Amino acid sequence: MTDRVYLDWNAGAPMRASVVARLSDSLGRTGNASSVHEEGRRARAAVEAARRSVAALVGANPRGVTFTSGGTESAVTVLSPQWFHGGRPLAFDRLLVSAVEHPAVARGGRFPADAVETVPVDRDGVVDLGALDGRLAALAADGRRALVSLMLANNETGVIQPVAEAARIAHGHGAMLHTDAVQAVGRIPVDAGALGADVLTLSAHKIGGPQGIGAIVRANDLVAVPPLLTGGGQEGQARAGTENTWGIEGFGVAATEAAHDLKAMAAVAERRDRIEAAVLDTAPEAVVFGAGAARLPNTLAVAVPGLSAETALIAFDLAGVALSSGSACSSGKVAASAVLLAMGVPTDLARCALRISIGPATTDADVARFAEVFKKVHADLTKRRGSRAA
Ligand code: PLP
Repeated sequence: MTDRVYLDWNAGAPMRASVVARLSDSLGRTGNASSVHEEGRRARAAVEAARRSVAALVGANPRGVTFTSGGTESAVTVLSPQWFHGGRPLAFDRLLVSAVEHPAVARGGRFPADAVETVPVDRDGVVDLGALDGRLAALAADGRRALVSLMLANNETGVIQPVAEAARIAHGHGAMLHTDAVQAVGRIPVDAGALGADVLTLSAHKIGGPQGIGAIVRANDLVAVPPLLTGGGQEGQARAGTENTWGIEGFGVAATEAAHDLKAMAAVAERRDRIEAAVLDTAPEAVVFGAGAARLPNTLAVAVPGLSAETALIAFDLAGVALSSGSACSSGKVAASAVLLAMGVPTDLARCALRISIGPATTDADVARFAEVFKKVHADLTKRRGSRAA
C-alpha cells in the first residue's frame, strides 16, 4: 500500500500525524466532559480548547460552536423551519438551496419536501444571484420568510460561491443564510464575519481530522436552532448525547493546523494546475468543469468524452492511484453527477467526470505518476476506439 497515490482528499483527507498522536494519547484517558470530578474536568477542558480552535479557524466566537457527528448532521440540524431570534420563535416557510449542494443539504434537512426550492446555477456552477434575489423578493411580497443554503465551495468541482453577496441579498429580504463550508475551510480563508452567513457547518475529516465529527458555527449570536437530537443538556442544550471527546480533540488539532495549511495552498494550486495541464496535453478534447469560475486550489473535475468514469477509476485504482468520479460520498455507484447535470453538462459527458483532489502532502512524484497513468488509460481508450472503427 505504501506506493499508493491518494488523490481523493475531498472524499476524506488523510488523518494528520498530529491528530493520530493526540488520539493515541487521549484514547487511553477516561472522562465524561459533563462529570464534575477531575477526569471529567480534564475532558471538559479538552473539549473547550477544541471549541476555541474550531471557532478560530472561521473567525467566530467559540460560544457559537456546537459539536455534532459530522457535516451531514450539522446540515440537517440547521436546515430547520423553526429557529429562535433573540429568544423568540422565528419560522421559515421556505428553504432555498442552490442546485449544486451536497446531498446533505439538497435533501432539505427538517423542511417538508414541498417547502424546498432550488436556485439555478450557470454553466460554471455558480449560483444565479439574480434568480435568488427575484425569488426572495416574491416570497417576501407574499409575506413568507425563507432560509437560504448556499455552499461555500463545491465538493465535486471546487467552484467557490459568492456567499457574501448571497448573504447580503438574503438579509435584504429578511431571510437567513446557512453556508456549508465543509470543503472550503483549510483551503481558502474563511472569515464568518466577512461572509455574513448566519450559520456555517463544518466536518473534521475534510481537514485531516477524524471521521464522524463536525460542527455547527453560529456566526449570528442572536439566532439559535432547536436541537435535532434531544435528550441530555450537552453542548449547552444544543445537541444531546455524551460528547465524542476524542473526535472533538482531534478536530481541534486539525483545525489549528488547517489554518496554517493556507500558506501551502499556492503550491497545492500549482500542482493541481500541472495535473490539469497533463490531462489537456494528453487529451486536448477533455472538458474541465467550472474552469471559468473561482475554484478551490486543490480540486479538478474533468471529463474525457468516451472515457467512462467507471472504466477510468478501475484502471487508475489498479495502477495504484485513488481518485473519484463526481461525488464519492455515498454508494460507490458511478451515476451521472447531479451537480454537473445542474450545470447543463450532457448526461453522457457527466458519466465521464473524474474528480482529482489533492492536499499539502501531495508531491511532485504523485503528479508525475498521475500523468503517466493518465497517458496509459487514454492510449488504451484510443486503441479501443481504433479497433472498433477498423
Ligand atoms: N457537505 C459537503 C460539501 C461535503 O463534501 C460533505 C462530505 O463529502 C458533507 C457536507 C458531509 O459531511 P460528513 O461526511 O462529515 O457528513
